[in-house]
Amino acid sequence: MYNKKQKIAILGSTGSIGVQSLEIIKQKPSLFSAHLLTCNKNYMLLYRQALDFNPKYIVINCEEGYRFLSKNLNKEKTIVLLGEDSLCKLIEELDCDLVLTAVVGRAGLLPTIAAIKSGKKIALANKETLVIAGELIMSLAKEYNAPIIPVDSEHSAILQCLVGEKNKNISKLILTASGGPFLNCSKSDFKNIRVEDALKHPNWSMGNKITIDSATLMNKGFELIEAYWLFGVHEKKIDIVIHPQSIIHSLVEFIDGSIKAQLGLPSMTIPILYALSYPDRINYPIEDFDLAKIQSLTFLNPDKTRFPHLRLAYECLAKGGTYACSLNAANEIAVDAFLNKQISFLGMIRVVEKSLEKSIFVQNPKIEDYLCVDFETRKIATQLIYKK
Ligand code: NDP
Ligand code: MG
Repeated sequence: MYNKKQKIAILGSTGSIGVQSLEIIKQKPSLFSAHLLTCNKNYMLLYRQALDFNPKYIVINCEEGYRFLSKNLNKEKTIVLLGEDSLCKLIEELDCDLVLTAVVGRAGLLPTIAAIKSGKKIALANKETLVIAGELIMSLAKEYNAPIIPVDSEHSAILQCLVGEKNKNISKLILTASGGPFLNCSKSDFKNIRVEDALKHPNWSMGNKITIDSATLMNKGFELIEAYWLFGVHEKKIDIVIHPQSIIHSLVEFIDGSIKAQLGLPSMTIPILYALSYPDRINYPIEDFDLAKIQSLTFLNPDKTRFPHLRLAYECLAKGGTYACSLNAANEIAVDAFLNKQISFLGMIRVVEKSLEKSIFVQNPKIEDYLCVDFETRKIATQLIYKK
C-alpha cells in the first residue's frame, strides 16, 4: 500500500458518496486524511465534518454558511473559502494526492478541470462531468497526465475486469442496471408515479438526483456515455442488461469469447475503496457475501420504449459534439422540477426530449461552447416547464 498517508480532497463531502468516503478515511487513519472538504449549502454537516476530520481547507457555496463556518472554526486549523472560483484556484495550488469528485451535476465540471490541469489523480464519482464534456476531459487528462479512476460501481467493475488485459482484445462491455423502481410498471401507469415512489430505489441508497435518474434509466444512459469516454470503446460495443439483484456490477467480453465479471453486494463502499487504493487493495470489513442466500441472478433486456432516455444517450454518442451536454442540462432542470413537484414523471421525460430537439449544437466544442450550450439548454428546459 502507500508509503505515506494520502491527502484526499473530497468535493461534495456532505453527499451520499462524500459521507461514505469519509467513513473509509475514519476507519483507515494511517492511510488517508481529509485535506479539503466542500459542499453547496449544508454548512452544519460540513461544520461537524471539519471538527471530526480537521481538513486544511473547506469550501462552501452559500454566504450564510461561509459566515457561520468562518466564525466558528479555528482558522489555525481550517481555512474557510467561499464559492466555485475560490475552489478552482485552490485546487490548482493544492498539495494533495487525490481529488474525489462527489459533487452532483454540472457543478463538478470546472473544479474537475482545475484538478486535471494541475495533474492530480481523480477518483471520479461525478459522472455528469464526462457526460457534458467527455472529449475535452479525456484529452486534458492525457495532456496533463492526470489519471481518472471511476467510482461508479459499473465502471469500477469494468476497470477491475480489465486489469492485465489489452484494450484491443475487448469485444464488448456489458453494463448492468437494476432497472430501478419502475422496472415492472406499465407505461400507462407512469402517469401515476409520485416523487415518493421514484425516490424508493430497490437496491441502492443514494442522493435524490441520481435516484430519480435511476428511475428514468437516465443514469444508465449517462453511464453508457461515461464508459465510452473512460474505456474508449465504441457505443455499438457497449451493451446494457437489466440485472435486478445488482450483484454483478458489470462485465467485459473478450475476442476469444471469454467473459469476466465483477461481483459484490450493492455497496458503494467497495468501488470507493478500490478508487482510493487502485491499483492495490485495502483490507476492509464488508458484510459477508453469501451466494446461497442470493440464490438466483436474473437478466433481461432494457425497454427503450418505456425508458426513452436510454435511446437518447446512444443517440448523443452517435451525434457527438455538445449533444450530451444538452441532454445533461435538460435532465438537471427536469429532475429538479420533478423533485419540486412542478412536473409529473412523464412530464420530466418529455421536457428532456423536447429540450434536446430545440437546443443549439456545436460539433467541435471548446470549454466556452460547453458552458454556453449548458446555459442555453437550461433556459429552454425552464421555459418548457414554467412558460407553457
Ligand atoms: P448527493 O446529492 O447526495 O450529494 C451531492 C454533493 O454535492 C453534496 O455534498 C452537495 O452539497 C454538493 N453539491 C450539490 N450542488 C452543488 C453545487 N452547485 N456546488 C457545489 N457542491 C454542490 O449526491 P450523491 O453523493 O448521490 O452523488 C454524487 C455524484 O456521484 C453524482 O454525480 C452521482 O451521479 C455520482 N454517483 C453516486 C452514487 C451514489 O451511490 N450516491 C453512485 C454512483 C455515482 P450540499 O450537501 O450542501 O447540498
Ligand atoms: Mg452506477
